[in-house]
Amino acid sequence: MSRILVVGAGGVGSVTVRKAAQFPDVFSDIWLASRTKSRCDAIASDLAADGKTIHTASLDADDVRATVKLLEEVRPTVLLNLALPYQDLPLMDACLEAGVHYVDTANYEPRDVAKFEYKWQWAYRERFEKAGLTAILGCGFDPGVTNAFCAYAAKHYFDEIRTVDILDANAGDHGRPFATNFNPEINIREITQRGRYWEKGVWKETDPLSVHLPYAFPHEQVGTREIYLLFHEELESLALNLRGLERIRFWMTFSQNYLTHLRVLENVGMTSIEPVMYQGHSVIPIEFLKALLPDPASLGPDTKGKTCIGCLVTGTKAGKEETKFIYNICDHEACYRELKSQAISYTAGVPPVVGAKQLLTGAWLRPGVWNIEELNPDPFMNDLGAFGLPWELREADPLAVP
Ligand code: NDP
Repeated sequence: MSRILVVGAGGVGSVTVRKAAQFPDVFSDIWLASRTKSRCDAIASDLAADGKTIHTASLDADDVRATVKLLEEVRPTVLLNLALPYQDLPLMDACLEAGVHYVDTANYEPRDVAKFEYKWQWAYRERFEKAGLTAILGCGFDPGVTNAFCAYAAKHYFDEIRTVDILDANAGDHGRPFATNFNPEINIREITQRGRYWEKGVWKETDPLSVHLPYAFPHEQVGTREIYLLFHEELESLALNLRGLERIRFWMTFSQNYLTHLRVLENVGMTSIEPVMYQGHSVIPIEFLKALLPDPASLGPDTKGKTCIGCLVTGTKAGKEETKFIYNICDHEACYRELKSQAISYTAGVPPVVGAKQLLTGAWLRPGVWNIEELNPDPFMNDLGAFGLPWELREADPLAVP
């Protein structure tokens, strides 16, 4: 019996559950719990129409006791956390208490400080090790598959890696004036931070979205796009774990329209996480903005185009300089036809299923708290295609330093 409990019935969690249900030989029993049970039930009833059964429950994942109680009732082997980064620590506490392995896709972030980093979760290493439990951190696409791309490149294509540039392009169009591709609050908190990259042991900062250049992506439907340097959480662990690394950066594409809207919202204070008083109520502007913006899950039916996310890696092999781009291309409409989701939630929601498979089959069963690049990338990379995320490799030119 391989029972999993998915927590969080949002855009990404919905993909995770629907994908896991395609593999009953691996995931024989699937539970979905979220704050709003009706969201879980809507997904369950969709799957029931296809003859697939999942079980649902109501859960406030901030409440450790409530999660422990649910885990003791359900007795899953693995908990997949697809709620928000704020729930990482309470869910890890509950897993430790109930003896359940843990997988998530985003590192912990306190609600009142827009500062995401791994230190809070890395502090759980010894406790997971002692309990004989495995916690796998950041098992989405980026972080997640991008970390596996780096580990795979280091293992198979390079003797030494010198630089990594992670490139994340969304060439999709949803036809709305402004919307984010995943949870708006988390997304905007990430993008409006100062840019940061790591070079020769030092973190260097840039003004938000101030460093950019055009990049020609491999697929013609992605094409040449402006990429913007920003800090992304996998930089922190990869800078630590990739032997010989000299520099690592992260880049994301944005349209001019998106940036203009973001700038206006920032200028009027709508992206702030500081509470303001309005008619006697304390309101956090970015939370209010989230309520106004389209739910990312609702963009699925209208989004057309492709995504391309990959790692541009330079280094040496047998004394020769090499540059390789390892990447995945995903099509928004194909994702929607298959799992009722646009490609961003699809690319984020499938990897935790592939990661959970590695835990259930024992390939990644290793007591402690791990980032993806610390685990054997081969079984994960071998499974990605069969789970809907095929990857490609091509020779490339290094990124021009702006
Ligand atoms: P959504 O906002 O669509 O979904 C989050 C879900 O979590 C909601 O259904 C919500 O509740 C539920 N939730 C929130 N708080 C609690 C709580 N206290 N208890 C129980 N459930 C709760 O977000 P997304 O699906 O877009 O994103 C989910 C996660 O995936 C985020 O952490 C995000 O950072 C991460 N992500 C990772 C990526 C990667 O590549 N690594 C890429 C994209 C996203 P309710 O039931 O009320 O709806």
